[in-house]
Amino acid sequence: MSIEPIGHDIHCVDLHPLGLEEYISAYVVDRGQVAVIDCGPSSTIENLLDAMAEMEIDPAEIRQILLTHIHVDHAGGAGLLSKKAPQAKIYVHEQGAYHLVHPEFLWSSTKKVLGELAEEYGEVQPVPKSSVVPLSGGERIHLDTTEIAVVETPGHAPHHLCFWDIPSSGIFTGDAAGIYVRKQDCLLPTTPPPNFDLELSLTSLTRLMALQADRLYYTHFGRRKDARAHLEAYSRRLRLWVDTVLQGVEEGFNEQEIRDQLARTDPHLRKIEGISGRDRLIHESSVLFSIQGIMRYLRSSDSLSRES
Ligand SMILES: [Zn+2]
Repeated sequence: MSIEPIGHDIHCVDLHPLGLEEYISAYVVDRGQVAVIDCGPSSTIENLLDAMAEMEIDPAEIRQILLTHIHVDHAGGAGLLSKKAPQAKIYVHEQGAYHLVHPEFLWSSTKKVLGELAEEYGEVQPVPKSSVVPLSGGERIHLDTTEIAVVETPGHAPHHLCFWDIPSSGIFTGDAAGIYVRKQDCLLPTTPPPNFDLELSLTSLTRLMALQADRLYYTHFGRRKDARAHLEAYSRRLRLWVDTVLQGVEEGFNEQEIRDQLARTDPHLRKIEGISGRDRLIHESSVLFSIQGIMRYLRSSDSLSRES
């Protein structure tokens, strides 16, 4: 299991989902009290526990499980983890709390959207209602003597939160700041259906920039320094993708043709063409998924009907 200490008692754990390296990280913060940020899916909870054993942390010591949002790749394993960490409180946006306690709808919609991939992430198990702490942004979570501030960041999903770790001047970004493909050094949008919203995403990014943090801790994947530059770059990339998809739809292109058009306008997308095997397939399907999310957003925001 690869565990990367990234300073300020934070460890980035590569969860190795779907047999992939550097695709999903969970963060373990050990400051006397132990917190886990985005525990990942059910299928990799054993990997997370193995990593914690390597760090000589007993899961029963976990006091906080912080979830940026309830999508299966970030939070699907919270129910399984809470069995090993019965004292842990589970922090999640108030709009997501119900679905963690009653995951039937979350799981059936995940299967509908992701197909076979959903089974590979593993079925979502319920978390005990008494463990859930609903959040709406603006709260402070105390981790021993340090504080993590809760920032509401809708856009990728309406119930998305980021966690600003004040001692390390770093933000746990979930999916609010895109997907950083570390091995290719490229940043890609994650704008899935049914809830991606450009305006909300851009407002959330502005809110994150105002924190003047130094570092970003991506779920996909790892730590990056120079937070502001990457947040600005992501804002620009979102606008570029939405403009390019709008143009493509108006020209009657299909999703694959829009993807190819995006690759001509965005050098970062071209970089994933350097990846091979399953890794490439997963990234390519995530790109198509993001295109579908933008198309849906354009339809619902009237940009398409206005133009036609
Ligand atoms: Zn994700």
